[in-house]
Amino acid sequence: MPGQNAIEAPPAIRSRLRKLGLERREDLILHLPLRYDDETRVIGVAQARPGVPVQIEAQVLAVSLRLAPRRQLVVRVGDASGGVLELRFLSFYASQQRALEAACSEGHRLRIFGEIRPGLQGAEMVHPRYRVLTGDEPLPRSLTPVYPTTAGLSQGVLRKLIAQELGEADLGELLDADWCSAHAFPTLGTALMLLHAPPPEVPEAALQSRSHPAWRRIKFDELLAQQLSLRHVYLARRRHGAPRLHVAGRLTRTLEASLPFALTRAQRRVAAEIAADLDQSSPMQRLLQGDVGCGKTIVAALAACQAIEAGYQAAFMAPTEILAEQHFLKFSAWLEPLGIEMVWLAGSLGRKLRRAKQQQAATTAQLIVGTHALIQENVDFARLGLVIVDEQHRFGVRQRLDLQRKGANPHQLMMSATPIPRTLAMSYYADLDISLIDELPPGRSPVRTRLFSDARRDEVIAGVRAVVAAGRQVYWVCPLIEESAKLDLQAAFDTHAALSAELAGLRIGLVHGRLRGEQKAAVMAAFVAGEIDVLVATTVIEVGVDVANASLMVIEHAERFGLAQLHQLRGRVGRGVHDSLCVLLYQSPLSATARARLKIIFEYTDGFEIARQDLHLRGPGEFVGSRQSGVPLLRYADLESDADLVELAQAMAAQLLRSAPERATRHLQRWLGNREELLKA
Ligand code: ADP
Ligand code: MG
Repeated sequence: MPGQNAIEAPPAIRSRLRKLGLERREDLILHLPLRYDDETRVIGVAQARPGVPVQIEAQVLAVSLRLAPRRQLVVRVGDASGGVLELRFLSFYASQQRALEAACSEGHRLRIFGEIRPGLQGAEMVHPRYRVLTGDEPLPRSLTPVYPTTAGLSQGVLRKLIAQELGEADLGELLDADWCSAHAFPTLGTALMLLHAPPPEVPEAALQSRSHPAWRRIKFDELLAQQLSLRHVYLARRRHGAPRLHVAGRLTRTLEASLPFALTRAQRRVAAEIAADLDQSSPMQRLLQGDVGCGKTIVAALAACQAIEAGYQAAFMAPTEILAEQHFLKFSAWLEPLGIEMVWLAGSLGRKLRRAKQQQAATTAQLIVGTHALIQENVDFARLGLVIVDEQHRFGVRQRLDLQRKGANPHQLMMSATPIPRTLAMSYYADLDISLIDELPPGRSPVRTRLFSDARRDEVIAGVRAVVAAGRQVYWVCPLIEESAKLDLQAAFDTHAALSAELAGLRIGLVHGRLRGEQKAAVMAAFVAGEIDVLVATTVIEVGVDVANASLMVIEHAERFGLAQLHQLRGRVGRGVHDSLCVLLYQSPLSATARARLKIIFEYTDGFEIARQDLHLRGPGEFVGSRQSGVPLLRYADLESDADLVELAQAMAAQLLRSAPERATRHLQRWLGNREELLKA
């Protein structure tokens, strides 16, 4: 139902406007031009350069119909500069033809806007915009905006609606005037007026590159809205009560004392941040970031201990069953000696057994480990105090928020090994607190990386033999075939068959996504136990798998993998004390982007640096991907090139929420309208 604020227009127009996301009158003024046409000046036909949009005024010399090669209306025009030009219209109305003929016989001039190009009959313009001048019509005093539009919605209609709204809208300033001038920001009103109707002296390049202060102001406001809305989500969640997990720390101390290693300084720091959050009566919403292999799992286990000691349940969710099982095994080794009751929820358990386990998970279990689907859909926890989500980058904001619907309001710890550059994190994770493990456990030898073209596969095979002869194990990752899961599987079988022949005498295992959970688990268990020398795998091993004796990772057709994937895969080795190597086998010739990717993975080992390079290569939209679909997309600001604005916006969001919440609300309304509802889970 159109409300008071709805745009006034016929229903057909309104539905097209809706396609552009324009529903409220306020939306119109934030619909900004893509570019501009300069109709403020007229130049002589003889002076007009071909290939650039120009405006001319000319007499109609002749109007004719040409039939070959296609029926078309041809209008010959000329002006005082001595230049002559043909306007060609391949589609036209009879009324248009009559009006042009009338202009010709009555001596009216045309005002024409378009690009001149050389044609068969001399200079021509195809389908220029024009109008017949019957009297003295002044030229516009500002550049003509060209808006993003959709089929059936003309620039003329959009311009009129927007101009009208600009005249009537409340462009009240919400930011402090001194602050604005200190940052060289015009007021919102000034910025909008300028961008919708720039005076001709505004440098075109600054408008086009969106570096003009008016553009910067708009981008800032957009980022501010994003920050505010994510902060709202954060604060709204905090208002829900959560169980305060206040403990003496008996369990965590016992666990720590039982470990064969000492925690790193970074692990201790983040563990303390988490422990302090859990001791609050509002839910923790924390993202634990740290590069592959930095030791996030033990930090999660310590958090779980705190919840359990406080008399609550902890749930640990992983994106795949393989990963969940690996964690279950690890947690069992750590926590069962402490007398903690654990339950493993796997899809591959038989129906009856699964029911029983779900029953146990709902009631007596203290730590529940499984995949998201299993835990989220089927268990009603008695006293859920903490939810830990591993590899959270595989899930969107939505799924993160879904958890809240489980009745209770557990504390949440999200873990991610996909490091994301700071400005992206500030933007996409502004509804979370962030802890960072920025150091690897000591004694790790960095994984060396080598590139081999397919032509040198024999050398790689020999290398595999040598590694196995030395008592180590090998991962061999199959080519990724994006288009088809079936081909992907076939590639895995082919690779397994080929390697079994090439590496006769070695024990070759195969794990892929189509295996049933228990089959996968059996293969992985055999690999962990050292009963398999070479594990051929599809990317199911991408995340989390932890086998310290594996020291060689071969990635076949490495050119098909993304940077984050390559980094994750490489992180599967180098987990023990052994010298480790990652071999990237590629098929030449390489495309330019594949070459750039492989160069990055070869040169850098630090996940954050790789992420930064990746961001640079792909741009932020691609980088974060559609997974983060709960976040309102940015229309104008760019998280990479406008990084300085992201920082400013974050600071301003905090300030507004503190000192002028009503202005924060107004700002959000202006930018997001009803769309903010998207984020309120
Ligand atoms: P990730 O952060 O990638 O999930 P893990 O938690 O799987 O990393 O840890 C990788 C390996 O390092 C595991 O074998 C883990 O037991 C070990 N580890 C964790 N912390 C330490 C430490 N402080 N010192 C030595 N080894 C550690
Ligand atoms: Mg992990």
